[in-house]
Amino acid sequence: MTDPDPIPRKAAPGKPAPRRSIPLALDDGGSMYVSEAKIHPRDVDGMFQRLRTVAVWWLLGMYYLFAWIPWSDGSGGSRQAVLFDLPARKFYVFGLNFWPQDFVYLALLLIIAGMALFFFTSLAGRLWCGYACPQTVWTEVFLWIERWCEGDRAKRIKLDASPWTRVKVLRRGGKHVLWLVFALWTGFTFVGYFTPIRELAAHAPLAGSGQWSGWETFWILFYALATWGNAGFLREQVCKYMCPYARFQSAMFDRNTLIIAYDPMRGEPRGSRRKGLGSVLERARGLLDKATAYDYVFRAAHHHTAADNLVAARGNTSVLDPKAVAEPLPSFEPAQLGDCIDCTICVQVCPTGIDIRNGLQYECIACGACIDACDQVMDKMGYPRGLIRYSTQNAIDGRPTRVLRPRIVLYGVLLLALLAGFAWGVTHRSALIVEVLRDRNALYRVNEGGGVENVYTLKLINKTMAPQRYRIALDGPDGIHLQGGARTVQAAAEEVLNLPLVVEAPPGVSGKREVRWQVTPLTGRDEAASAAAAAADDATEVSVNFFGPIP
Ligand code: SF4
Ligand code: SF4
Repeated sequence: MTDPDPIPRKAAPGKPAPRRSIPLALDDGGSMYVSEAKIHPRDVDGMFQRLRTVAVWWLLGMYYLFAWIPWSDGSGGSRQAVLFDLPARKFYVFGLNFWPQDFVYLALLLIIAGMALFFFTSLAGRLWCGYACPQTVWTEVFLWIERWCEGDRAKRIKLDASPWTRVKVLRRGGKHVLWLVFALWTGFTFVGYFTPIRELAAHAPLAGSGQWSGWETFWILFYALATWGNAGFLREQVCKYMCPYARFQSAMFDRNTLIIAYDPMRGEPRGSRRKGLGSVLERARGLLDKATAYDYVFRAAHHHTAADNLVAARGNTSVLDPKAVAEPLPSFEPAQLGDCIDCTICVQVCPTGIDIRNGLQYECIACGACIDACDQVMDKMGYPRGLIRYSTQNAIDGRPTRVLRPRIVLYGVLLLALLAGFAWGVTHRSALIVEVLRDRNALYRVNEGGGVENVYTLKLINKTMAPQRYRIALDGPDGIHLQGGARTVQAAAEEVLNLPLVVEAPPGVSGKREVRWQVTPLTGRDEAASAAAAAADDATEVSVNFFGPIP
């Protein structure tokens, strides 16, 4: 039975409004803080677990290896393939280099990541959470280490409850040593994306050739501590209480979104049975109607079975309704039972400790472990697989599923447009930056011949990772020209050139005139065609003012 509504809504006629109170959950000790029970996920094997393993190796492989891959720096040497060089304000990603002027692409990349999250979540649910989120991936590795040191779920639970013996100290200690080494390596790799990782390794404290700087040490330890804490201790708490994505995913879900779901029409009423009873799909009983099936789920969630109590498998968010009354389930004849044998293995394998039989819950990270577990149970019982499966709420309820919905089309079109814009922008970025600064000391000067001179500093940035030649010319009215004529300059890979240049006007030119600097890349081009190219539209032009005496 559930409590009566604890918040009286209306005052009785002629009486003051009742005081509103918020009921608090108290733990057994009377404290207002209800601590979470530690979750020991059971090992599972199956297609989705193997997919997760592949995802872990692939993603962590990229993380730990990319920092070590050398890449040509364009001047005969080599640099790190992926390096975020903050002091130089330059990012390198394999063959691409990004300057501060390219910051717009970073912003675009973040927008694309957000849009991709919207698109894939609406279409396929929490794929990111189950297979690619760093929290999931690192927790998986920490769990592997834990299993290796402390054994399977039953042994870990036993070890947890046992007093501190020599064996417990050795197993626990060994686990934490391995966790710490792995976490420190993770922190070291993280900093290795911002400081060349080979240099970082060369002046590691124990390498004997120097020390890490204060900041390097801080970030390595900070990142290691975050990994150790999040993947070793907090685990599902991060997903349940800290990650904002779990909270706003409901805004992206609808009844056609791919979710991991238990089929109550087939599975209910749950219960143990002797082997030999066929699946409901082969028996006269068939599938239950929806109302009865969900009623059984609701009642089962409020009246734990003996099997539930064994694993503290309490359903939570989807079926709790303080005003609803849950009658206990009657006992059923074997022939009336559904396909769920109430073994609770789907709960034991769940990394967030929920019971998927209670319906979609925000704690579910869609890892697929319960599908693999239940499929194994179905195999043993000789029942068809798929009692828990990837499906949509509509499909589970026997309604047609629509994959192409307006929001999917909208997110998809926006995502494609953003990706196309990003790809075009990155491949068509200007490889040259030209800035012109006037000499601030003098507006103009008159030379011995009576000509008027203005001095400029031409700043050329070769953004490419190869040496370049440029032709510099000036297009000005009334005979205003570049002193010494057009010229060719050479810039090394990623070099910034500051060139002082004098522009001269014939005697008699006065007032303000607009002149245009033209810089044309010549590398790989026929020298004879360079003059023509200078006038062509691939020259970078910058207009500035030329000043003469005031008339
Ligand atoms: S693993 Fe399958 S059969 Fe066992 S309790 Fe879960 S849903 Fe029922
Ligand atoms: S219910 Fe648990 S085991 Fe099943 S997909 Fe969700 S998080 Fe994974």
